[in-house]
Amino acid sequence: MSRLASCVLCWLFALSVSASFAADDFNLVKAAEGIYVAQRSEPPGFTFVANMVFIVNDDDAVVVDTGVGPATAKAAIAALKKLTSKPVRYIVNTHWHDDHMMGNSTWREAYPGVEFIGHARAEAEMMSTGVSNRKQLLEQGPAFAKQIRDALAKNENLAGKPISNEERLAYLSDVAWAERYFTEAPRFSLIAPTLTVEDHMTLVRGKRTIEIRHLGRAHTGADLIVHLPLEKIVITGDLVVWPIPLYGSTSFPVDYIATLDKLLALNASTLIPGHGPVMKDDRYARSMLALLKSIESQVRAAVARGETLEQVRKSVKLDVFRKEFAGDSAMLNSLFSSYAQGPGVARAYQQIRDGL
Ligand SMILES: [Zn+2]
Repeated sequence: MSRLASCVLCWLFALSVSASFAADDFNLVKAAEGIYVAQRSEPPGFTFVANMVFIVNDDDAVVVDTGVGPATAKAAIAALKKLTSKPVRYIVNTHWHDDHMMGNSTWREAYPGVEFIGHARAEAEMMSTGVSNRKQLLEQGPAFAKQIRDALAKNENLAGKPISNEERLAYLSDVAWAERYFTEAPRFSLIAPTLTVEDHMTLVRGKRTIEIRHLGRAHTGADLIVHLPLEKIVITGDLVVWPIPLYGSTSFPVDYIATLDKLLALNASTLIPGHGPVMKDDRYARSMLALLKSIESQVRAAVARGETLEQVRKSVKLDVFRKEFAGDSAMLNSLFSSYAQGPGVARAYQQIRDGL
């Protein structure tokens, strides 16, 4: 398999492989009074499992993102029910990727009548790109999982070098999650948003004000963020992904810059990312922004020179950012190639050359 094909597969693999592993593989982190994050605790790897957020109000609860399938959703519902007996009235799906939305049906069983809030384009994306990506993943993912298992058996990483302990833990987690996903995904029940947002929606629930906003295209063309202005909290969805940014095959790196600028302009004191720990400052998001700006300006210059994508991949230099995000970690360096540099450069090239 060529390096490019393998990277594309890595991305596809990451797009939605986030199945139901261990029911308690998250820490419940209190971000403010009544606001809890089911913060995932897996090691960073090729698979992703998204955080979920519970906002407990005077008379009800609002949830942000629903897990990747029945098992992750059930574990989160059990955790929420220990916190409160109030019913969940609204669920916000920040975007249509599987790990943020495929728990919807399980949440609906637990809370009949719950409304799902998503971007106006989320259903169309879920039913087109989402379905075809999942199909491709189910067809090609098992071979990639086998590559990882074979590498583990040989004590090597995917590049054929001696495996580090960090890589071993990540690979073991990846394989476990992938296999759960392959089991659950064929039976996913797709529940689209019942209330849609083009630009902005405000929920007032007792003393709580919850602003749901589309700030522009970024991680996908249909991203929502949730802003709690009184608490100075922003729930970013995958606009912020830690420890390596995820500019995947459905991202819009050029638009992402303005979108992230708008997110930062909200001046939140707490950022709850789609993946990664609760952040008490915006330093990480600002590093993501600087990386995007560098990709955009370098790709724009390369397109002006008439370079092909293969030439652009070589001419764009992101070593300073690679060092900042990945340091000396072989695992994080490999994720930087697969999730930030590879797809980020390719999508920026498509956007700038083809006006995507
Ligand atoms: Zn995503």
